[in-house]
Parts: sequence; C-alpha cells; structure tokens
Amino acid sequence: VDRYWEPELDNETRQWLAVARDLGVNYFGPLAEELDRDERYPWENVKLLVESGLVSLFVPREFGGKELSLTAVCAVAEEVSRACSSTGAILAAYALGAYPILLAGTDEQKSKYLGELMAGDAVSFALTEVGAGSDASAIKTTAIREGDRWHIEGEKIYIGNGGASRYYVVFAKTAAEGSIREGTTAFMVDRESPGVIIDRYESKMGIRGTNTSNLKLDTYVGHGDIVGELGRGMRLAFQTLNVGRITVASQSTGIALAALDAGVAEAARRQTFGASIIDHQGIGFRLADCATATTAARMLTYEAASAFDQGKDVSILGAMAKLFASEAAHDAANTAVQVFGGDGFCKPCIAERLYRDQRVLEIYEGSSEIQRLVISRSLKALANSPEG
Ligand SMILES: Cc1cc2nc3c(=O)[nH]c(=O)nc-3n(C[C@H](O)[C@H](O)[C@H](O)COP(=O)(O)OP(=O)(O)OC[C@H]3O[C@@H](n4cnc5c(N)ncnc54)[C@H](O)[C@@H]3O)c2cc1C
Repeated sequence: VDRYWEPELDNETRQWLAVARDLGVNYFGPLAEELDRDERYPWENVKLLVESGLVSLFVPREFGGKELSLTAVCAVAEEVSRACSSTGAILAAYALGAYPILLAGTDEQKSKYLGELMAGDAVSFALTEVGAGSDASAIKTTAIREGDRWHIEGEKIYIGNGGASRYYVVFAKTAAEGSIREGTTAFMVDRESPGVIIDRYESKMGIRGTNTSNLKLDTYVGHGDIVGELGRGMRLAFQTLNVGRITVASQSTGIALAALDAGVAEAARRQTFGASIIDHQGIGFRLADCATATTAARMLTYEAASAFDQGKDVSILGAMAKLFASEAAHDAANTAVQVFGGDGFCKPCIAERLYRDQRVLEIYEGSSEIQRLVISRSLKALANSPEG
C-alpha cells in the first residue's frame, strides 16, 4: 500500500528509514509475536534502538545529537511500528518524555537528560492520575516549596515505559488556589531518589511488550529541576502532546500498513468458491477502503509533521492526524481479522495481535473523543471569529 504514495523525504531521513527497516525486518518483526505472548519488555530491541541512534534522532546537534525533523522521527516510528507495535510504542514513549525538555528545558537540563537519553536512560511523561486522564487539569499531585527544595506528593498512573525509565517529567500542582492551568509545574524526578516507588505494572490487551506502570511520589527535588516556567506546566504538557499525537499517528499508520500487508496477502492466497477471497467484492472492496484510508492517514500525518517542522501551530492538524490515523488502523486490523476468518480469531495470528495492539491508539495521548472535542472547539471559535 505504501507503493501508491510515498512522502518526500530528504536523503538523511531516507538513510535513517533504511536503518529502521533493516532492524524492523531482521529483529523487531521476528520477535513481535513472542513479546506479545510472554508480555515481555524487549531490552534487546531497546539496545538496538539506542545503539543505532534511532531513539534520539531529535536531539539537537549542540547536545551531541542528529537534530532530525519530526518528519524523520515519524517516518522511523511508522517503520518500527509496522514491524512491531510494542517496539514502536517504546520508541514513541522515548520521544514523549524528551519533548518537554526539548521544548522548555534549560541548556543544563538538555545536556544532562538528552545526553543520558542517547545512552539509553529514558525519560517518561507522567501526567495521568486516577481521577485525571482526559481531564488532565484535575491532577491532585502537589509540589510544595520548602526553601530550595520542592516536596512532591501524589501518584501517577499509566506511565508509558514507566518501569524502564530512569527519569520522569512529573506534572504537579504548585498553586493551592486559582487556575490549575496556571498553577501546574513540570519537574524532573529521578527514579533513584528516595520516595519514588513503582509498585504496579499493567497487564494490557495490546502492545504487551511495553512497560506501563504507576509512579508513587513522596520525594524532594531541587528548584533547578523545574522544567520550563513555574506555573506553566499544563501548557507544556499540552504543547508536548501536540507533538506526541503526531507520533501516535505514525504508530497508527505503521500498524495499519502491517494489518493491510497481512490482510491483502491472505486475501490473495485463500480460496473459497473457486476464487481468491480478494476477488469476492465483499472482501476486496473492504480492503480497497482500508488502503485508501491508510494512504490518506499517512498523507495527513506527514503533513502535520511537516507543519510542525515549519514552526506552525499543529494543535488541530495533529489532533486530526491522530484521530484519523488511529481509526484507520482500527479498520485495517478489524478487516484483517475478518479476512483471516476463524484463524483471525485465534492465536497466534498477526491479525488477532494487531487488532489488540491498535486499540490503545484511540485512547492514549487524548482519546478519539478528546481529539473531536479539540477540533470541534476550534470550529466553534472559527465560527465566532470576525472572519467566521
Ligand atoms: C498503554 C497506555 C499508556 C499510557 N501512557 C501514558 C504516559 O506515558 N503518560 C501519561 O501521563 N499517561 C499515559 N496514559 C494515560 C492515557 O493518556 C489516558 O488513559 C487517556 O488520556 C484517557 O484517560 P482516562 O484513562 O482517565 O479515561 P477518562 O478520561 O476517564 O475517559 C473515559 C472515557 O470517557 C471519554 N470522555 C472523557 N471526557 C469526555 C468528554 N469531555 N467528551 C466525550 N467523551 C469523554 C473518553 O474519551 C473515554 O472514552 C497511557 C494509557 C495507556 C492505556
């Protein structure tokens, strides 16, 4: 399906894409079924991502990185996700944790944390709490100033890469009253500090090779551990998610491509009533629709990444890309299950696995409902604007 349309990528990005493809075909793809079955975090894949440099493409040159565009990060995320959904999600989690530092960190923070990230020590993005997922402003974790230090207390949940990361960007309330949006601050927290406890690992429906944990905090950090400005943490979280959603869109197109690859191959192979099932229009047309939606999702995703690289506001385009691409992945995986028939309902079958893997794409980093909310609010603002 990727033959019908290809993004225009510069030579350097193409070279990185070739590295990702090679690792995907030879290492990540062959391991995907085992990771899912055994619910195992693939340290060997992480090592390959770190050693090849794929995990840190976005790190600026002045901090020792490649300083590649979001377009390049997305191209690689798509390719890795196409081979193994879990490994793609791990790669995306590395980027999500790093972006608050990239967007708002001091040079000292960038040098320390991005340097460690290039050596494999990941940072996780820790926003969600029991009562605060879609409604992120409802967070209850507090940070109270005590002299030069801040006492952070609370519990985060569903932290992507949580148990594998060394650091966390933790969003905590720093104002007892007033606007929570203005009264939230981002802090760097070291897993090795006293009072940082992980004691719950989620057992998930899909992307079972990823590590998703809680993070209990009763700990102290220094004033220098604030990321960005005091009181501007929620803005930073949303700015980060604007980028993260485009990366999730790339994970989605990677999984959609994998589902189509599998579905089309099986539909061309399997015969019923004297014909390949792709020749029965009920199946062939469904695959045609999925191929069209996946191609459109890729175009939208690359366009959103390119808009970000040009410094444009991607809050709406990114929401559209994530919404459309995650739903395209859902349809492609659902169709693949149907194409495989009984086999598609039983393990081990790639369609069955992808059907479970894709489901989270419609939930994390803003559910589909939240993306529709973001887009519809913007439509309302347009209608009410003088040019509306
Ligand atoms: C595998 C995994 C990894 C994750 N990784 C991270 C991470 O790294 N860092 C992090 O901070 N969080 C992470 N999350 C959390 C994730 O972002 C949240 O689960 C998600 O935002 C949804 O929040 P919630 O689970 O509290 O659901 P809720 O907010 O309770 O929503 C439940 C349902 O209600 C709908 N809903 C809520 N409000 C509205 C509304 N206004 N209009 C219409 N429908 C609405 C939602 O769309 C959803 O369908 C992860 C989650 C998972 C499952």
